[in-house]
Amino acid sequence: MSFPDPSAPASRAFVSLIGAGPGDPGLITVRGVEALSRADVVLFDYLANPELLRHCPDAETIYVGKKGFSEYISQEQINALIVAKAREGGGRRVARLKGGDVFVFGRGGEEAEACVAAGVPFEVVPGVTSAIAAPAYAGIPVTHRESARSFAVLTGNTKEGGAHYERLSGVDTLVLLMGVRNLDGIAADLIASGRSPDTPAATVQWGTTPQQRVATGTLATIARAVREAGLEAPAVTVVGEVARLRDTLRWFDAGSGFGGPLAGRSVAVTRTRDGASALSEVLRARGANVLEVPLIRFAEVPDDSPVEDALHDFGGWLLLTSNQAVKSLFSFLERRGLDARALARMKIAAVGPSTARSLAERGLRADFVPSTPGAVHLGAELPARPGDVALHLTSQVAEDDLARELEARGLRYERAELYRTEPARPGEHALNRLRAADVVTLASGSAARHLAALAGIDLTVAAMGPQTADAARRAGFTRVTVAETATLEALADAAAWAVAGRGEGLGEREG
Ligand code: SAH
Repeated sequence: MSFPDPSAPASRAFVSLIGAGPGDPGLITVRGVEALSRADVVLFDYLANPELLRHCPDAETIYVGKKGFSEYISQEQINALIVAKAREGGGRRVARLKGGDVFVFGRGGEEAEACVAAGVPFEVVPGVTSAIAAPAYAGIPVTHRESARSFAVLTGNTKEGGAHYERLSGVDTLVLLMGVRNLDGIAADLIASGRSPDTPAATVQWGTTPQQRVATGTLATIARAVREAGLEAPAVTVVGEVARLRDTLRWFDAGSGFGGPLAGRSVAVTRTRDGASALSEVLRARGANVLEVPLIRFAEVPDDSPVEDALHDFGGWLLLTSNQAVKSLFSFLERRGLDARALARMKIAAVGPSTARSLAERGLRADFVPSTPGAVHLGAELPARPGDVALHLTSQVAEDDLARELEARGLRYERAELYRTEPARPGEHALNRLRAADVVTLASGSAARHLAALAGIDLTVAAMGPQTADAARRAGFTRVTVAETATLEALADAAAWAVAGRGEGLGEREG
């Protein structure tokens, strides 16, 4: 064993052993997210939700899961890789992201020992273990004042030695990990060790995720119930009186009504705008499992001299119709060594409160925001007179509504390309999860068209407004629900109607 040498030149080498939580990407700890976002390299598991990698967009990511890996990577190789990556190039910050908790059957102890042996400093960030979380999402508390005062977590993996069932006779609740395959034998052993065959039992597969499935029975019947339901790993089995409580407490199950209107449903959010996480929050508050799939990404224009020419000596209305426009405008100014004072002679209109907020964050107050967000309202309500000039700084795919409205009022509309909107290319894994989502939210016509091209199948969609809904129908989607107003709350409501199967009528009414 060697200790980190305090007199050695400072190295960045550091390993964070992080519990990723049981699957729901919201169940990682704050400390875990911090460590992840500082990492140079991330080694992640089969059971660590890959969505968590969005906290470390610039890190090198290495999949070391054992499942689906053609070449089996051994624990020893993982230990060696952690140390090697930490030592690389004068020292790097390694995040080792492990499903559930680091030290609950995760072999995290061995990884920590490898760090100690190599003299690499490390930390442990505990996680929410599936042993407690998967039952909780199935409506099963592992302890309960009335019926269970103790619980034990055991492994059903016989390679790991199995459990000493006879020693567990005084424990009220048993939580079995890695035990689906051997469930018959384990149940028989538990009965032989004195547990009643009538003890309630439940098996939870992919707990806390939209794929969560549960089978229930008794110690005598659970193995058959699991087989009949076709449940496989990863799953935990709870044995004990508490399993009965699921009948009353099953809050997360789709349609239970308790976890919110979107409980147990997966909603894919397809926007990339700054608003994406705001919408995700609203959806999560309604119980949804949110999958963020960027369909578009923003890029710089190859040549920004048209923007420079347009802004030069400009004294009319400057129209900004997205957060991205505000962001790109300020990077443009910065590139030119300028700041907000360059806009001093113009009046600025924002398409809605969110864009106005982006301006405010940069010290600019929008001179005008329409009463209802949207290009059409902006065009109709802009306090300008015929002959006034309005300059729209936007992307190459901007729709023509704004131009039409303004020109109809006798205003002069000019446009310059400030940034580019390009299709993003989600990976196959993300695409499959997108296809499996219960509903997909769409905030723009271009997102609708791109989604149709990528997914290649009809999906249930919730659209931000009638224009987006029309674009979605034209793109081939037949199950389209429209938000009643252009707000995130209304879009989340539309998503809930859509999964409740009440979307169609609404779609027709709007369309
Ligand atoms: N460290 C992990 C456990 C690793 S052992 C933790 O604390 O959760 C792997 C086993 O964990 C799986 O075989 C399964 O029994 C259980 N498991 C992990 N994630 C799970 C999930 N989302 N749902 C059900 N079981 C899960």
